[in-house]
Amino acid sequence: MRILSPAKINLFLQITGKRPDGYHDLVSLMYCVGLYDTVSLTFGVKETSVSCCHPDVPEDETNLAFAAAALFLNTLNINQGVKISIEKQIPVAAGLGGGSSNAAAVFLELNRHYGYPFSPDKLISMGLSIGADVPFFIFRKPAIVSGIGDKLKAYQGLESFKILLVFPGFSISTAKVYKNLNLGLTNCKKKLKSLLLNEQSFDPRCHLCNDLESTAASMYPGIFKAKEALLRHGALGALMSGSGSTVFGLFSDSDTAFKANRALAENDKWQLYLVNMITKETEDKPEQGLS
Ligand code: ATP
Repeated sequence: MRILSPAKINLFLQITGKRPDGYHDLVSLMYCVGLYDTVSLTFGVKETSVSCCHPDVPEDETNLAFAAAALFLNTLNINQGVKISIEKQIPVAAGLGGGSSNAAAVFLELNRHYGYPFSPDKLISMGLSIGADVPFFIFRKPAIVSGIGDKLKAYQGLESFKILLVFPGFSISTAKVYKNLNLGLTNCKKKLKSLLLNEQSFDPRCHLCNDLESTAASMYPGIFKAKEALLRHGALGALMSGSGSTVFGLFSDSDTAFKANRALAENDKWQLYLVNMITKETEDKPEQGLS
């Protein structure tokens, strides 16, 4: 069974506080985009295993897809494993949520394979124990995500843009960005006061904001360089996704996006992906599960 596992971007990412347990509360507007890993599952094996030919992706129980399978099968006391094979297209540790997406793909497919033993809400809470972005990928719709990634509200208020992703050729550790973050210097709250309540609709021309961007860019100036290039070549707005390193530009027409893609391709350190925003749920899900 082969499953497509999409990347995400954060059009808005406000850090609202830090909890005593070290987790950060946030409010984020998240969309899946048309850049995919492929996750293949083989059933009927004794032990769970994972393989991936990307050098930075672990092939043991620390792989998020492996962790998802182990949690799912253990919770149901299933005495069988699943063989997981991942073909990576999504840059790793790049703010595009690849590992979380792979984990969500495993949860969704195991749930389907075993006859939907878990409700969507139960899958989402299991997903949260694997990673903060996993619930969003299980939800699989454009969403305003809040709390520590556990509160999800479907969002429909945005037209679809062409997106040019610029992976600047280096990865960033999420933990390192959060460690260097100074909450007193974050500013997305001022840009958009009430996205969560939908009182103010999101306008990407002026509301794009990421509280992690200036911290990440001060450590990795290549982020500003990619952002500036996207704006110079006609993007309506540009922003770092998640904790970086990928920067995306939004384009209202394909022609300008193609031209920007061609111009930015001159920098041979950058990997470029011209993609669509995924505005609809692509996978059938049951409304009800048993637990
Ligand atoms: P995050 O913000 O959660 O750190 P990210 O989107 O920036 O995520 P990922 O591509 O998910 O980045 O990788 C983050 C880390 O997770 C990497 O260090 C990688 O080695 C590890 N990892 C574990 N499982 C996977 C997986 N299936 N795919 C990619 N990375 C994985």
